[in-house]
Amino acid sequence: MDLINIKSFRNRLYPLLGGFFLTVLVAVIVYFTGGTKNVYTNLMYIPIALIASIYGFKWGLLHAAISGFLVGPFMPLDVKFDTSQTPINWSIRILTFIVIAVIIGVFSDIAHKRELKVSFLITHDPDTGLKNYEALRSEKSVSEHPISFFSVAVTDYQEYLGFFGYDFFQQIIGVFSKELTETLLSFPNAEVYRYYGMEFAIKVTHDEDELNTEGLLNALSTLNERTISVMGVPVYVEFRVGISTLASEEDPLDGIRRSLVALRSAVRNNQRLVRYTSNMEVLFKSSVNIANGFREALDRGNIRTAYQTIHDSGSGRTVGVELLARWIRDDDTRITPDVFVPVLEKTALIHDLTEFMFDRALHLSRNPEYKGMYISVNFSSSDFNERSILSLVQKAKEHEVNPSIIHIEITERVLLSVANIQSHLDFLHRHGFVIVIDDFGTGYSSYGYISDFPIDVIKIDRSLILRANTPRGFGLVQSIVTFCNKFSIVTVAEGVENKEFADICEELGISQQQGYFFSKPELLPIMPKL
Ligand code: C2E
Ligand code: CA
Ligand code: CA
Repeated sequence: MDLINIKSFRNRLYPLLGGFFLTVLVAVIVYFTGGTKNVYTNLMYIPIALIASIYGFKWGLLHAAISGFLVGPFMPLDVKFDTSQTPINWSIRILTFIVIAVIIGVFSDIAHKRELKVSFLITHDPDTGLKNYEALRSEKSVSEHPISFFSVAVTDYQEYLGFFGYDFFQQIIGVFSKELTETLLSFPNAEVYRYYGMEFAIKVTHDEDELNTEGLLNALSTLNERTISVMGVPVYVEFRVGISTLASEEDPLDGIRRSLVALRSAVRNNQRLVRYTSNMEVLFKSSVNIANGFREALDRGNIRTAYQTIHDSGSGRTVGVELLARWIRDDDTRITPDVFVPVLEKTALIHDLTEFMFDRALHLSRNPEYKGMYISVNFSSSDFNERSILSLVQKAKEHEVNPSIIHIEITERVLLSVANIQSHLDFLHRHGFVIVIDDFGTGYSSYGYISDFPIDVIKIDRSLILRANTPRGFGLVQSIVTFCNKFSIVTVAEGVENKEFADICEELGISQQQGYFFSKPELLPIMPKL
């Protein structure tokens, strides 16, 4: 029996002993005050009510019978004259005690059951019957043994809801949580909890020296990346796991939090399983700092614009520039866009960046130095909503900028992830903006859907260009160029670093090139807001 059980056993035993002690005490009082003829027998109702209300019907009944006997046949009516009670007298008293105990006991049992039901509802998830986050949180008594927390999240589970609707989604959750629970049955020290949606926690209490989680991980991995059958429909399920192990005596709440930090890292880096390390906190803290500091950085002029030239393959003439965001702190240290853009994309702040860069693009387009060149701006998924798109069109109109000078760069991911992307692109295209697919070759690169969208330019990713000096790589890029030529899509090679690749791109018939061979990104001077 562990510490908690001993404690709750004692808590339940003490009132019972106290009740019996009171009963005996009342019997002694009755005897020494002269017998049942006096009023003190009525004191017996107190321990009876006490026991029945705490222990319910059964114990109340037993206790009432014992109490009745104690002041029953062997208790004189009058001690002094040694007169006995008549049997009818003590029988009716026992019966009264029993009736009182039964009434109080039954009501107490009903109240107790109701209480258990309420506390079950608070600590359990009604959909799966599993314990919930509240239970996990409230079971925070410090353990004598190390504990591991596994946070498990099914990847993109919200999409099931979108695709299949609520009822079927509930079925998926039911089947998955049942499989999870059954898989863990052979690990008696592991318990499953449901956070919400398709996010679960597993709490493992380790035996004294045993910290091995391999067996459990192996069992979990048999569930990962496979199809489960839900009402006869095969549903593909893939999940990520974050793990943290606490030494004994550490606060379990920390363990839960750390496993969630590890889970976020697993999701972010697309890894099946990640164990918590303290530098993850630094990483997440820095994400928070980026999100917190961006607006101020923008206001203080720490967000700057760099430009990189884009050249015609044959003549080498500069045909356009791409604008690239730069974050330069006051002490001249820099945060690269690879770090801050993904953080901003998770917040509404990305609009501020896009708006700022678009504003710079309008500025440059009116600058005679950039006459005849186009200006390319990078856009993110959440930039595509009716209001933002409309405001871009209006802004260009307001500043009398010919939209065909402005190139809008989006990745294939944007094409796949944004609802109504077709209508947004059609709208921009109709208003004269040029639509560019960036990093082509890193995503799904399906020609099928590319031909559905109003795409003017495809930028072939550096990773493909780098392979173009091998026969297979050359062939691959050649097929992209052939496809683009067929649909009158202009091609741009990205990341051209030397003459060898510049020549290969020219030979491949790629129209334009960008890369360190031609120019490195250079900071633009600070410009006033338009
Ligand atoms: P990207 O749009 O593919 O931009 C090209 C990146 O490749 C730039 O990195 C550029 O400096 C780099 N690059 C250019 N030529 C070469 C080369 O010859 N070799 C190599 N190795 N790299 C070359 P940068 O400026 O660090 O930007 C990284 C990414 O950050 C961009 O990739 C873009 O996805 C994102 N980004 C930058 N500015 C913005 C912005 O204003 N808005 C949004 N949404 N994303 C931005
Ligand atoms: Ca780009
Ligand atoms: Ca690119």
